[in-house]
Amino acid sequence: MTSAEKTQLAHHLLNEHYGVQAIYGRVDPMHELIGTILSHRTTHANEVTAYRTMRERFPTWEAVRDAPLPDLIAAIHTANYPEVKAPYIQNVLRELIAERGAANIDFLQDLSTEEAMDWLTKLPGIGLKTATLLLLFSFHKPVLPIDTHVHRVTQRLGLIGPKVSAEKAHALLLSYLPTDATELFNFHKHFYWHGQRVCTWYTPKCEACVLAPHCDFLQSGKTMVLSSTPKRNGK
Ligand code: SF4
Repeated sequence: MTSAEKTQLAHHLLNEHYGVQAIYGRVDPMHELIGTILSHRTTHANEVTAYRTMRERFPTWEAVRDAPLPDLIAAIHTANYPEVKAPYIQNVLRELIAERGAANIDFLQDLSTEEAMDWLTKLPGIGLKTATLLLLFSFHKPVLPIDTHVHRVTQRLGLIGPKVSAEKAHALLLSYLPTDATELFNFHKHFYWHGQRVCTWYTPKCEACVLAPHCDFLQSGKTMVLSSTPKRNGK
């Protein structure tokens, strides 16, 4: 079986297991953009609290941009790494407002996927993952966000090689899947859920996994060394 065939088989099995759904996400693209920055290595509940507190203390995007840095860090402190995220947020807002005249990214809808990706990833602190999450969830563009869960599960299965980075996995997996936003949304969501609930970092529940008959990691006796999985000692 080729990697493309195996990817499509796994996609089909998880579609059956979790169910296919329409794309959903935050209605406001600016919320998605800033919320995605806040969400990095942070639980959803803490991200929501950080966003809400920030908007309560600084009700306009211009106020967020111009806030004293320590005050913005304090407002988003429930998100991990607030001292890193606060300057990122202010830099993004500075560039966006300077270029477009307002904190509004609705124009991305009218750009091609490539143009929108290029524009977003030129913003300070916006990488491939943030850009793909925003473009898929808010604008329904056919891209595939690869977070740690998607990276780990696709690598354990053997859809991508043991050393393939999340960045390289994006292009590889995209080439195996239909260029369709709903298909890619479901692939992302299902692999994300599978990584959270079944194929967890340290104790994957292989006995309960619908993908087990096709899993390289399981067939290796869970001995494969993969770039997506941290070692137990945290190194
Ligand atoms: S069989 Fe185990 S390691 Fe393989 S995908 Fe399923 S849970 Fe993950």
